[in-house]
Amino acid sequence: MSQPRQMPGVGRSPVERLAVDWIACSGRGLCAELVPERIGLDEWGYPIIAAEPVTADLLPHARRAVAACPKLALRLQSS
Ligand code: SF4
Repeated sequence: MSQPRQMPGVGRSPVERLAVDWIACSGRGLCAELVPERIGLDEWGYPIIAAEPVTADLLPHARRAVAACPKLALRLQSS
């Protein structure tokens, strides 16, 4: 008997990644202080977002960083 087919992505938890609106971001790196596991800073203080998804243990920190961003430039996006 064959296995039931599943649509790609169906049944999986959505993967969350951090993303920056570069037009709105003013640098300074508050977000990097709150989620250093996923956000570094370049030499001008602008965030460098890691390619890795935000894991469940980091999600509260990532949400706090999104809420604390003074320019509303940081967001979590699901894929
Ligand atoms: S906290 Fe917001 S404005 Fe500041 S560096 Fe991070 S994304 Fe940019």
